[in-house]
Amino acid sequence: MSKNNISDFVILGGGCSALSFINQVIEQKITKYSFIIIEKQKKYVDDKSWCFWSENIKKNKNIIGASWSSFSFNLGNRTNFLSSKNFKYYYIRSIKFYESIKKKISNYAHITLRLNETIIRIKNKKNYFEVITNKSIYLAKNILDTRPNIHIYEKNPFLYQCFVGYEIKSEEKINLKKSNAYLMHNMHTSNNKFYFEYILPIEKNTYLFELTTFTKTDLSLKIIEKELRIVLSKYFKKPYQIIRKEYGKIPMGFVNNKMIKNKKNYFVSGSLAGFIRPSSGYAFVDIQKWSERAANNLKIKGNIEKLEKREVIKNFLDKIFLKVISSDISKAPQIFYYFSKNISPTTFIKFMLGEANLLEYFRVIYAMPKRIFLKCLIKI
Ligand SMILES: Cc1cc2nc3c(=O)[nH]c(=O)nc-3n(C[C@H](O)[C@H](O)[C@H](O)COP(=O)(O)OP(=O)(O)OC[C@H]3O[C@@H](n4cnc5c(N)ncnc54)[C@H](O)[C@@H]3O)c2cc1C
Repeated sequence: MSKNNISDFVILGGGCSALSFINQVIEQKITKYSFIIIEKQKKYVDDKSWCFWSENIKKNKNIIGASWSSFSFNLGNRTNFLSSKNFKYYYIRSIKFYESIKKKISNYAHITLRLNETIIRIKNKKNYFEVITNKSIYLAKNILDTRPNIHIYEKNPFLYQCFVGYEIKSEEKINLKKSNAYLMHNMHTSNNKFYFEYILPIEKNTYLFELTTFTKTDLSLKIIEKELRIVLSKYFKKPYQIIRKEYGKIPMGFVNNKMIKNKKNYFVSGSLAGFIRPSSGYAFVDIQKWSERAANNLKIKGNIEKLEKREVIKNFLDKIFLKVISSDISKAPQIFYYFSKNISPTTFIKFMLGEANLLEYFRVIYAMPKRIFLKCLIKI
């Protein structure tokens, strides 16, 4: 196998965090270093959508697929609608994101994207790394590793967030508000699993319907898909067209820092770095924030930013939340509904974004059902 010239950075995996970082390298006009991204997929596919809260988005507007001014939680016949003057809930289809960054990359000679190539092994040499793939050997001064790894998670508290989503087209009239994102609809438990529907009215006659479950053991696409079809039959009496499908099995847990290989010239990002929020499964915003800071660090200091320690209070609240839910999943519907009822929409969004201040964190604690949480707190 031929060896390539030494690169400044070899990026392992070419998904969300790798492309977000490279996008920042381009945006921040960093041309001093060479980058190679190695991605095992043959081509990018429309495998997921990313949603997140943000204040009015001005940049990269072209990749935003939809947005909603309110969001809701539903339990039985009670629905709690929340909206904030300053924030909207945004939706990006992954294929738009992948393709737009791939196109940008093609304009720069110092960035190379190698698709259809699988990383097999990394060897530490004295002053560089050797990246061995199924096709070639790359030499790198620095590594940015973004390959997800389920084994880095602590055993407790831990849940899987498994879901199947169908983006569908239907002419049939259904009773949904177009300006609302139905985040947790029809919350219930069954067989020790917490279920809810996640419904996004994307545009006229087009919806994303996702059946989500929080569970201790992972559930296959096939099983959830069968249940999703039953859910859909309650909304649609006539046939509908499926535009795309997505399946997720997101770990909700805490990364054991000892398992993260974040050493000199070897950096990690994305889910491998613990960016998936243990209490919610969201990661997109944290990946964007890290990418911007890391590229800025590279530009100014000549190196990527090392991982910061997670904010203590955010970590603490995430831990209580996950502990409470995983220790008695039957209480999850009441907990989420009660929480959404007792918190202001802006505080909720800031908590979700990890941008709450101390006072807002106290408001989060205040909104939690006291008895259950106190019981759990004593056990921590
Ligand atoms: C279906 C789905 C929907 C989600 N929706 C949201 C959402 O709405 N909002 C939100 O905030 N978060 C969401 N998430 C969570 C999170 O944002 C995503 O998982 C995100 O893609 C994580 O980015 P990443 O770079 O860590 O991993 P990935 O995007 O998965 O990228 C890792 C890449 O590494 C490649 N790879 C792995 N091993 C190798 C190898 N040996 N050789 C070469 N390449 C390799 C993979 O093919 C992959 O492309 C969602 C996750 C899923 C799965």
